[in-house]
Amino acid sequence: MRLQGKIALITGGARGIGFAIATALGRQGAHIAIADINAQGADAAAVKLREIGIQAQGFMVDVADAHSVETLLEEVTSQLGRLDILINNAGIGGNTAFLDITLETWNRTIAINLTGAFIVAQACAKRMVEQGHGGKIINIASLSGQRGGNGRGAYGAAKAGLELLTKVMAVELSPHGINVNNIAPGAIETEMAATAHDAATRAAYNYLVPMVRYGTPEEIGDAAVFLCSDEARYVQGHTLNVDGGFRAAGLMFGDRKAPSSMG
Ligand code: NAP
Repeated sequence: MRLQGKIALITGGARGIGFAIATALGRQGAHIAIADINAQGADAAAVKLREIGIQAQGFMVDVADAHSVETLLEEVTSQLGRLDILINNAGIGGNTAFLDITLETWNRTIAINLTGAFIVAQACAKRMVEQGHGGKIINIASLSGQRGGNGRGAYGAAKAGLELLTKVMAVELSPHGINVNNIAPGAIETEMAATAHDAATRAAYNYLVPMVRYGTPEEIGDAAVFLCSDEARYVQGHTLNVDGGFRAAGLMFGDRKAPSSMG
């Protein structure tokens, strides 16, 4: 129970990586606020958590709308009393060749994945500074913000911007006792990946990932528990890649297959 008594807000928590992080933090004793543009999904996710003994409530938010985010923060802090942890996770996928990206697609991707993440992070950080007892912020970036992958022009640019924003936040929020870090997932089995990754994309990932498999949302949840815990108190402005070794890899050859277990 490393997060007993902590209040954690997870955006985009109705499903996928956000829901897995909510479950992992909840299992460590955190009280979970799930906020999603899909209000019914957020409520249903909170019900699922309560069924396994985790305190949880669902909220509606559009992270790209500053008014909606402010309303969310008022609701969360008035109902739950305070805010200790933000998982800045809401995002949309994107897989469009550079020459084909429309301005509309570009603007929407940046609005949700970068501007939306900024709006939420700033609103939460202001609450944490006012409260005066520190906090933890984890921005969910992406391997696609570190490498020039096919089709990731808008999405990758947004995530690269978020990674840099994290460093600035870490510098400026350190005096307030707030840790700000990124998790950069590699290819993770979620509905987003099911939509955005065709067979060729999946084969390309498995070729480039030393562990020769996609990750699970639960593996991102475990990394989030560490970054939210006191054990990570001196980890600041860091990007923790959870990507099966993709970022580390160079030349790979020989008999490459997914291990049955890792220890
Ligand atoms: P997902 O399954 O699509 O879940 C994302 C959730 O965010 C959905 O519930 C979605 O609601 C919600 N959402 C979308 N726009 C929102 C908005 N404007 N305001 C509030 N909520 C919004 O995605 P995921 O795969 O779990 O990804 C979660 C995060 O990890 C994202 O930031 C993504 O970029 C990042 N990531 C994912 C992967 C991967 O391989 N899956 C890899 C690297 C990084 P709707 O269902 O209504 O749209």
